[in-house]
Amino acid sequence: MLLAAAGIRVKVVERLPHVGGRTSSLEADGYRFDLGPTFFLYPRVLQEIFAAAGRNLREEVPMVRLDPQYRIQFGAGGKIDATPDVERMARQIATLSPQDAGGFAAFLRENRTKLNLFEPCLEQPYLGLQDILNVRLLKLLPRLHPTQSVDTYLKRFFKDDRVRLAFCFQSKYLGMSPFRCPSLFSILSFLEYEYGVWHPIGGCAAVTQAMARICGEMGVEICLNEPVEEMLFAGRKAVGVRTSTGIHRADAVVVNADFARAMTRMVPDRLRRRWTDRKIARKKFSCSTFMMYLGVEGTFDLPHHTIHIAKDYASNLNDIENRHVLSDDPSFYVQNACVTDPTLAPEGHSALYLLAPVTHQHPNVDWARERARYRSLLLEKVAQAGYGELEGRIRYERIITPADWDTRYEIHLGATFNLAHSLDQLLHLRPRNRFEDVDSVYLVGGGTHPGSGLPVIFESARISSRLVLEDLGVRAGAAMPVGRDLTGVEQKSQAAL
Ligand SMILES: Cc1cc2nc3c(=O)[nH]c(=O)nc-3n(C[C@H](O)[C@H](O)[C@H](O)COP(=O)(O)OP(=O)(O)OC[C@H]3O[C@@H](n4cnc5c(N)ncnc54)[C@H](O)[C@@H]3O)c2cc1C
Repeated sequence: MLLAAAGIRVKVVERLPHVGGRTSSLEADGYRFDLGPTFFLYPRVLQEIFAAAGRNLREEVPMVRLDPQYRIQFGAGGKIDATPDVERMARQIATLSPQDAGGFAAFLRENRTKLNLFEPCLEQPYLGLQDILNVRLLKLLPRLHPTQSVDTYLKRFFKDDRVRLAFCFQSKYLGMSPFRCPSLFSILSFLEYEYGVWHPIGGCAAVTQAMARICGEMGVEICLNEPVEEMLFAGRKAVGVRTSTGIHRADAVVVNADFARAMTRMVPDRLRRRWTDRKIARKKFSCSTFMMYLGVEGTFDLPHHTIHIAKDYASNLNDIENRHVLSDDPSFYVQNACVTDPTLAPEGHSALYLLAPVTHQHPNVDWARERARYRSLLLEKVAQAGYGELEGRIRYERIITPADWDTRYEIHLGATFNLAHSLDQLLHLRPRNRFEDVDSVYLVGGGTHPGSGLPVIFESARISSRLVLEDLGVRAGAAMPVGRDLTGVEQKSQAAL
């Protein structure tokens, strides 16, 4: 959308028969499920992208803000119905830990400042060390507490382990443990409270479907069912791609496919310097997810989103990230979206989405053997969580294991949240938006800066589009600001002026 809006001729080449990637939908027998993302956060970035294309996000994709935004059910006892209403939230926290009730307002205050300072840093590319040493980021360092985890950072606001979990389980959006995820990412839960958890009517896939429709109207050619098999080079410069059906020539190639998979398959190892096969193999990757999509007879008076946190969460995370085994008492998430959006299932039915974070592909777990056992375990957990016995009411069922993410969705190790977001794999240490190893190749999506998750991958699109336009000598649109100053006032790029 951004490149087309700037007057570039764009062709999208997609291996699957539909658009959207992880943000697509599964539709069958009158049920509709989001394949991956179900939380739509921080619509601002996408609003600006739509505006660049002369569109209004809210008109193109109706969405509702959820309140409560989700329920957190603690295996250790107690629950929180998370709400942005400060007083209601403080009362919820007080039921678990009276001394922590005042921490919520303080958390919001401090993270508001943190986000204001950090947002401009997220919006710029990191093409080398010089970008790290910029004044903005240096000013931010004391607030980043670079060596602290999110959980440790939160101790200044909340003493109760469960309350802290309510504000740090979001590091799972990045596929990381809150006990290891850098403290900077406390902004994730802040974003939810400050800007809302949204449900696009029809599911998150309604967003990517609208984008494809608008692209079509803008003259973008979308080629479906056409896997890219290799990138074509003249020396070190990319000049196009060869797909299963032919060759597409181009002045620039933007890679959205999973970084590790695409690089190792599409770009010859000899052309890469920093991201050789050997080096990619040594990188840390996020966790994966075991998924069940159930079309069920009956409706449930239960929240839209419920996150069930294992009684021993630290041990569950250790199983996922270090021991690479399946937990007997896993954390899991249930989406009961029909309670907000009845369009997702036939009348009187529900489309339930179950997700359990699990290790990425590892020799310790053979999904051909574990699939049925884990299905039963999850159904048992969901029954205990208030849904009752589901087996006899299931009218449609689909399961996706980490092995499926790996082989059917072409995601390296089935690591659904891409390269891990540890400090040594962030900013200029992540694969760069203007890909550093070869010329005329740009990256977008979870594998590049700023990282995984919907608002963030849209930001990567904005950064990379700007670089493409810069390199092609095309004037950028006004919706692609080069950054904000520290007071939050937008600076327009010279090109936009
Ligand atoms: C189960 C799950 C739940 C999630 N929940 C949330 C959430 O609630 N909120 C949130 O913000 N984020 C969530 N995420 C993360 C979010 O989905 C991702 O960060 C984001 O969608 C990644 O986008 P991407 O563009 O990098 O990759 P993708 O969306 O996977 O896009 C890559 C595209 O490239 C295509 N492709 C791959 N190889 C080729 C090839 N050889 N030739 C042509 N095309 C190819 C793919 O088919 C795909 O269309 C979730 C992810 C998963 C898997």
